[in-house]
Amino acid sequence: MKYEGMIFRPPSEADSLILQVTVGCSYNRCTFCAAYQGKRFRIKSFEEIKEDIDEVSPYKVRRVFLADGDALSIPQNGLLQILSYLKTRLKGIERVGIYANAKDVLRKDVEELKALKDLGLGIVYLGLESGDPEVLKRIKKNATVDQLIRAGKRVKESGILLSVTVILGIGGVEGSHAHAVETGKVLSKMDPDYVGALSLMIVPGTPIAKEIETGNLVLPTPFGLIQELEMMITHSQFTHCFFASNHASNYLPLRIQMPEEKEEALKRIREVLRRKDPDLLRPEYLRAL
Ligand code: SF4
Repeated sequence: MKYEGMIFRPPSEADSLILQVTVGCSYNRCTFCAAYQGKRFRIKSFEEIKEDIDEVSPYKVRRVFLADGDALSIPQNGLLQILSYLKTRLKGIERVGIYANAKDVLRKDVEELKALKDLGLGIVYLGLESGDPEVLKRIKKNATVDQLIRAGKRVKESGILLSVTVILGIGGVEGSHAHAVETGKVLSKMDPDYVGALSLMIVPGTPIAKEIETGNLVLPTPFGLIQELEMMITHSQFTHCFFASNHASNYLPLRIQMPEEKEEALKRIREVLRRKDPDLLRPEYLRAL
């Protein structure tokens, strides 16, 4: 397999074959994101992708994740060609996953998404980050709340699983309450199958790191982040969702089956907030991106 630069994938794709079909992110301007800094975006040629698929075809591959940042930006015919070839060459393949941003999704209609699903696309990972319009503007997310909700709903309508990422702390201390409450409400409207809550980790050199250096943004304390988690969950209502805050960046790792375990989880979070005992939190040295 030929990879260009660092490769990122969702935690739940740890056992998947990572097939790099694009290099970098076609947008690459979110203020907190350093994942693809210095990578010039390009879609790999089908010949390059085919070579990688042929190389792994003798092996049993159950799951494939299409990297890099927003591989759903590949035009429809290109994606159909890649998924068809994967299906032909990897006989035991069960699911293909992909990162997408709202505009990638909205460029496709439901029928086009369904066609991708029929060829094996089983899960879309969409970065919401925040449901607060002010935060989305500040972090240059390149999508409005309305676009993000429509994108999430469209993925679900196509029958593809939807996994949404949100970032604790991204509203700073000042915007903390609005960020948590609005994110809970937007998540409820999207009604995803999975939610992954991360905590903001500052990468030097990013625009958000400069905001912090200059004092324009003040990060919540660890218990402030947990308070956000509590508010977000309080304001969320899901039909059927697995809500995880077990990412390595978080202070309080939780895995919650919603709606069944919501009240139990809230009880546990509120108890942590009441006790404010740092020993209840994941130690700083174990936190990572
Ligand atoms: S769209 Fe995703 S990958 Fe691209 S810059 Fe924003 S957060 Fe990073």
